[in-house]
Amino acid sequence: MTSECDPNPENEDVTRQDQERFMKEALLMGEKALAVGETPVGCVLVLNGKIIGSGMNDTNRSMNGTRHAEFLAIEEALQTYPRSIFREVDLYVTVEPCVMCASLLRQYNICRVFFGCANERFGGTGSVLSLHSDPSIDPPYPVYGGIFKNDAIMLLRRFYIQENENAPNPRSKRNRELNTEFASDL
Ligand SMILES: [Zn+2]
Repeated sequence: MTSECDPNPENEDVTRQDQERFMKEALLMGEKALAVGETPVGCVLVLNGKIIGSGMNDTNRSMNGTRHAEFLAIEEALQTYPRSIFREVDLYVTVEPCVMCASLLRQYNICRVFFGCANERFGGTGSVLSLHSDPSIDPPYPVYGGIFKNDAIMLLRRFYIQENENAPNPRSKRNRELNTEFASDL
């Protein structure tokens, strides 16, 4: 077994280049979700520099609101690895994990979470609740946000425009125009 994950604020064992490489893979999963009309959130699980699971939202097709990208990636990894491996596994996800997934990740002892944009409405790792670090029987995990956050936001904006265009009573044209401006605080 390789060395156990040792989270540190500098992430010395994982370069920025690695982080960007894996986030690009997560964004590709988000693109796949968008192509089939799912909320475009994608993720990958990484063990020792290797992707061992990937997922995208699948709630519409399955009509199951718990089929978030993280659940699918974990299921894939568990086909090959024991649950105990998650102590050494990092998650890269385009959007901050929701409250449900943040809790799941903690129960699985995820090593670290890297995310793109914040999830202001449902975020479970800082935006709404802080399930990664609140007192709990499970060890906390560190989270690092902001990697390619604008790409993650653009995926979501493209989805909402697409959804609105398919709605029976589309909102005004102004709202449908793709907003490519980013506020400095995003
Ligand atoms: Zn979730």
